[in-house]
Amino acid sequence: MLRPAILAAARSKRLGVAARALPGSRALVGRFVAGVDADDALAVSRELVADGLHVTLDHLGEDTTDRGQADAVVVAYENVLALLASAGLADRVEVSLKLTAVGLDLDRSLALDAAHRVVAAATAAGTTVTVDMEDHTRTDATLETVALLRRERPDVGAVVQAYLHRTEADCADLAGPGSRVRLCKGAYAEPADVAYQGKDEVTASYLRCLEVLMRGSGRPLVATHDPALITAAGRLAAETGRGATDFEYQMLHGIRPDEQRRLAAEGSTVRIYLPYGEEWYGYLMRRLAERPANLTFFARALASRS
Ligand SMILES: Cc1cc2nc3c(=O)[nH]c(=O)nc-3n(C[C@H](O)[C@H](O)[C@H](O)COP(=O)(O)OP(=O)(O)OC[C@H]3O[C@@H](n4cnc5c(N)ncnc54)[C@H](O)[C@@H]3O)c2cc1C
Repeated sequence: MLRPAILAAARSKRLGVAARALPGSRALVGRFVAGVDADDALAVSRELVADGLHVTLDHLGEDTTDRGQADAVVVAYENVLALLASAGLADRVEVSLKLTAVGLDLDRSLALDAAHRVVAAATAAGTTVTVDMEDHTRTDATLETVALLRRERPDVGAVVQAYLHRTEADCADLAGPGSRVRLCKGAYAEPADVAYQGKDEVTASYLRCLEVLMRGSGRPLVATHDPALITAAGRLAAETGRGATDFEYQMLHGIRPDEQRRLAAEGSTVRIYLPYGEEWYGYLMRRLAERPANLTFFARALASRS
């Protein structure tokens, strides 16, 4: 009952503005978000790398409807990538990019040009890019854009969502040599004609997709905190002859940090999705929707500040 309401609130620009204006709101989001600027992102990346983890940095922002804003997002990525290179972190830290943040809803070719600029900056820095997946109305445009970017950089990462009926077939298409594919459950409210609605159905779909990716010749990026899926990934990797570094576990910053470090200590590659920036509201609301118990965490933090 709560999840659809929280996800609807996540899309409200008015609530976003109000939440960002709350006194102390920046400090509240610190568990999930590195901070508001590139220096914050760099500082937290450095700590995670020192703990044996890899990172994918996300400059927060989505649903850009203005060319100037789309350009500012590209400049922010160029800036953080240059900083990563000079800090010597580019071999451990890549970036994640949302196409709506660089104008997908405004003009597809604008978003493609912007994504090309981010990929060029990542290449110059010595790292790469993964293109996040948004709601199902953007799936085709996103995968088509990734295919175009891959002509320049075959290792540009694609993301697929196990809750969509189409995803097992997408995994088969994407599992070719050199391809990096992040498999997640999916974070948006999607209708029953395109997406599985029950938790068990989504998990079963995830397992089918995972098997396709593990048996394929690309690099599976196993994005989940679900203990059963983490165990299944380890088992499938062993069965398909993948070494610990031939696939990645990926988790969100602030979620199951002990498990992140346990897997890394075992020798697995573990990459942390680390968002930063002023536009934290939509991201944070999707994390609340996944686990409404986090509402208590925020309510408590807010109360302690009032
Ligand atoms: C690296 C990464 C990148 C992602 N990229 C995308 C993307 O591009 N597009 C997209 O739609 N989705 C993305 N997601 C989000 C994903 O789709 C899920 O919404 C999210 O990962 C929760 O699913 P889960 O597999 O962890 O399973 P769940 O069943 O939601 O959770 C399993 C367990 O993990 C813990 N947990 C999960 N979420 C939380 C939380 N918010 N707070 C506290 N504990 C929690 C709990 O212990 C829970 O029991 C990404 C996730 C990760 C890890």
